[in-house]
Amino acid sequence: ALALVWFRRDLRLGDLPTLLEVANDGDRALALFVLDDALLGPAGERRRDALYRALAALDEQLGGRLLVVKGDPAKAVPAVAAAAGAARVHVSADFGPYGARRDDAVALALRERGVELVRTGSPYVVSPGRVLKDDGDPYRVFTPYFRSWQEHGWRPPAETSAETVEWVEPDTVDTGRARRPIPEPRGEMPDVSEAGALAAWSEFVADDLADYGEGRDRIDRDGTSRMSVHLKYGTIHPRTMLAELARRRSDGAAQYRRQLAWRDFYADFLHHRPDTARRNYDGRFDAMQYETGRGADEAFAAWTGGRTGYPIVDAAMRQLAAEGWIHNRLRMIVASFLVKDLHLPWWWGARHFMTQLVDGDLANNQHGWQWTAGTGTDASPYFRVFNPVRQGEKFDPTGEFVRRWVPELRSIAGKAVHDPADRPGAYPEPIVDHAHERRVALARFDAIRSQ
Ligand code: FAD
Repeated sequence: ALALVWFRRDLRLGDLPTLLEVANDGDRALALFVLDDALLGPAGERRRDALYRALAALDEQLGGRLLVVKGDPAKAVPAVAAAAGAARVHVSADFGPYGARRDDAVALALRERGVELVRTGSPYVVSPGRVLKDDGDPYRVFTPYFRSWQEHGWRPPAETSAETVEWVEPDTVDTGRARRPIPEPRGEMPDVSEAGALAAWSEFVADDLADYGEGRDRIDRDGTSRMSVHLKYGTIHPRTMLAELARRRSDGAAQYRRQLAWRDFYADFLHHRPDTARRNYDGRFDAMQYETGRGADEAFAAWTGGRTGYPIVDAAMRQLAAEGWIHNRLRMIVASFLVKDLHLPWWWGARHFMTQLVDGDLANNQHGWQWTAGTGTDASPYFRVFNPVRQGEKFDPTGEFVRRWVPELRSIAGKAVHDPADRPGAYPEPIVDHAHERRVALARFDAIRSQ
């Protein structure tokens, strides 16, 4: 029989358990991707580009046999399945709020036509919902989750490739929907493809993994893996990475495993509490007073434009605009600045990040923001306010990072660049006084705490 393999966030052929299912059934496979405006619209140009790039690479791996159609998947997938006479549709499960709803709608529409939606695996090491406390509740705190996650364990990578199944040439079957070309990326992009992911991973393992424990904190060095875009689009599965980590006994490997567990933790949490994509997890913060009006809009524009007068914040926001990726420490610094120095709602910043980041991921992003804003699960306490100058001096001790992104300050040597005594060129004065805003933030917090 014929089966559809509907690709979404799993744009690779290695370590893809869905292919083993198809092979077990003895089916031939039609590879499908659906361009869905509900996801493409809010993604921002950079994430669309990354997707198109990954799709083009996948199509090439499939010898040009990826069928791309456009529309609402709840209509398009059943239409293709019916026209092609497919018996089954295979996916790796999506646990995001939109994806889970979409898949339920697709499964229902398929069932009406006697076609089964088969969900095998997910983009996570351990799928959301699998690691639970003894009483059956989900974890709300990372460390015990991490312990259970490790005890739960995971399978070795699935040994699959393009050869695992026999792929059908779309032009030889009735597909019911017009075949679309893969859109061209508009801007420059890292190599978002399975080959690119494996190459980037090998390079990181060879050069930086052993020192990742310390290297990951330095903003002015390239000490992190930059695998986030690959994990976002599934050009590699984290299981493949864990298998490599298991062969290395370094502290860096242990630290890296822990970071991958944070990714699973946030996905698990969002699966149990999809409302936290938009709302404070800690309901006390619903009463928090944020700035609104023109002053707020101006402050927000200074933040997005990298014109706050705080060098580390501005360098970060300029890198974000230019590259669509910034270091984890910078994400925390600029998020803290938006919430606790400018007193703007975390969701303004989260939305901006989602349009800019090439690795923009709802679970990691919304919970990264809620962590910083003190409103999330296992969050940093609200009263811990990042000092942008001290953070810069500590994590960009050479000042190289700031000089790379803020050319106005290039004449200032060393870490003095984080707190320039005078401001050369057109570099702005600080738009707020951190010491003062810190007190304001704490007063606002006291007001909601005593309610
Ligand atoms: P590495 O240090 O090499 O880490 C390896 C992998 O571990 C990452 O690719 C990621 O998958 C995972 N990981 C690392 N740190 C975290 C973390 N704190 N939470 C969850 N997973 C983590 N990550 C995203 O993938 N997409 C986002 O949209 C996103 N938004 C964020 C927003 C804020 C405000 C904050 C504080 C963090 C956010 N993160 C997000 C988490 C983290 O900053 C990035 O995953 C990381 O910087 C990506 O770079 P890297 O791959 O070089 O990381």
